Amino acid sequence: MHPDKLGRPLRDLRISVTDRCNFRCTYCMPKSVFDKDYIFLPRAELLSFEEIIRLAKIFVDCGVEKIRLTGGEPLLRKNIEKLIAELARLPVEITLTTNGSLLKKKARVLKDAGLSRLTVSLDALDDEIFRRMTDADFPVVDVLDGIASAAAVGLAPIKINCVVRRGVNEHQILPMARHFRHSGHILRFIEYMDVGSSNGWRMDEVVSSSDVIACVAAEYALEPIDANYHGEVAQRWRYVDGGGEIGVISSVTRAFCSSCTRARLSTDGKLYTCLFAQHGHDLRSLLRAPNCADADLADAVSTVWRARNDRYSELRKNATNAVKKIEMSYIGG
Ligand code: SAM
Ligand code: SF4
Ligand code: SF4
Repeated sequence: MHPDKLGRPLRDLRISVTDRCNFRCTYCMPKSVFDKDYIFLPRAELLSFEEIIRLAKIFVDCGVEKIRLTGGEPLLRKNIEKLIAELARLPVEITLTTNGSLLKKKARVLKDAGLSRLTVSLDALDDEIFRRMTDADFPVVDVLDGIASAAAVGLAPIKINCVVRRGVNEHQILPMARHFRHSGHILRFIEYMDVGSSNGWRMDEVVSSSDVIACVAAEYALEPIDANYHGEVAQRWRYVDGGGEIGVISSVTRAFCSSCTRARLSTDGKLYTCLFAQHGHDLRSLLRAPNCADADLADAVSTVWRARNDRYSELRKNATNAVKKIEMSYIGG
């Protein structure tokens, strides 16, 4: 398939399998917006597993090499392992990003279904800070137990994603680094981004990757290491003493749009060509239309991708909240 307008091929697909979550992270689904009156997508609006699998095959034919299941909280989608088992038949890597709250219970079935790799989000080791960030009543130990269970069933090394927000959890950078040194897992610090329109993002709340690295390097000597592959979003560092590897994802201070090969499929089947897109392309209507052939869907994907010229992070301005953007829990993180 043709690359987009900026010469970027389609290689990755993120599928949001639910717009619901059992956490209310203040930077993603703040309770002030996602409260008890918030209307989530009704069941009939969600893509069924059959529909997701059909679309996934088409995306793979269009060049996708990696599929990530996300959300919302993907482990809340009933029988997610059945979807993974079907997707695992495709010649691509199947990964999943989770908040870890249900991982202890689900690790074995995810592995048995054929999940290739796993990313767990964890922003703090301190319970009070963790609760403040997730705005939910889950202790950190549940997430750590989930990570241990996933490692025990063979999903290690696991990537641990930590979003750093100034004034909230920057003092957790070192405790997190200490905890995951020598664990074999890869801790990655992510710059807080202006996704969606509900988190009230401000530039001065972003802790830059260079500050994160300086903070860790003040205690443990670090050296940069090469990317695993062209276009890897994390910049990799290793502890000089053999403590393992950490990464930083500089979505704000060092945008990586020029190598962005990611498409996103929302819970209700809209195709988005950027995390910060304002509009999606409705694949579900086409999919549900009588006599829609796979070739019609492939044409639609190809047409959207060829027209793609998104590079939001490269163009980002300080104040971005004036623009109405799609929420990450719906489009898929
Ligand atoms: N619920 C799952 C989880 O938390 O891992 C999957 C979906 S979540 C939207 C995917 C990732 O997006 C998480 O690692 C989360 O920390 C990250 N994320 C959400 N909002 C963010 C923001 N404003 N800036 C940076 N990362 C964000
Ligand atoms: Fe839920 Fe993940 Fe968003 Fe937190 S970051 S509210 S766990 S979807
Ligand atoms: Fe890709 Fe959009 Fe993020 Fe740039 S801003 S890296 S184009 S998702």
